[in-house]
Amino acid sequence: MTSVDARDIAEDLEDVLFTSDQIAERIAQVAAQIDQDYEGREILLVGVLNGAVMVMSDLQRAMRSHVQMDWMAVSSYGAGTQSSGVVRILKDLSQDLKGRHVIVVEDIIDTGLTLSYLMNYLASRGPASLEIMTMFRKPEAARIEVPVKYVGFDIPNSFVVGYGLDYADRYRNLRDVATLKPSIYS
Ligand code: 5GP
Repeated sequence: MTSVDARDIAEDLEDVLFTSDQIAERIAQVAAQIDQDYEGREILLVGVLNGAVMVMSDLQRAMRSHVQMDWMAVSSYGAGTQSSGVVRILKDLSQDLKGRHVIVVEDIIDTGLTLSYLMNYLASRGPASLEIMTMFRKPEAARIEVPVKYVGFDIPNSFVVGYGLDYADRYRNLRDVATLKPSIYS
């Protein structure tokens, strides 16, 4: 195997919070729940680039329903670890949302500022329904209430990498999710 796992970059990591097996197991449970909730309806999954790439591909393949996908890119974090609260749309959707059953797929909700902005924006485009699935959520960091229907795991308020989540564009390809040693970003 040539993929990155926690052992390859072990010196950069502090704690592994979730292994790839735990993530896969949880994704399967969430996918089954979505299949049940949306029975008979087609779903448009809207992924938020780049972090949601892994969860989007795994979630989709774990589902039995017919799904379409589309992507948005918004700016939130630069190379740092603090939410700026500034949201800018870098890439818009290519599909019409009117009458569609939309689930926004996120990697992580931290302050909620990015998603809150995004939800208002998407709601204004007339979907039949609009829900959120996020792989990780930091309840302690919430600065704005966002109604999230599907959550993979609630995690403590620390900066994590792996499974699509980066630090300075690295570590996205780590299969596990881990905290970084402070020496990496200080
Ligand atoms: P929010 O607006 O909710 O504070 O931030 C959402 C975005 O910030 C996420 O989509 C993600 O890109 C980034 N982010 C928040 N927390 C973390 C974290 O612990 N690790 C990484 N790598 N990115 C994070």
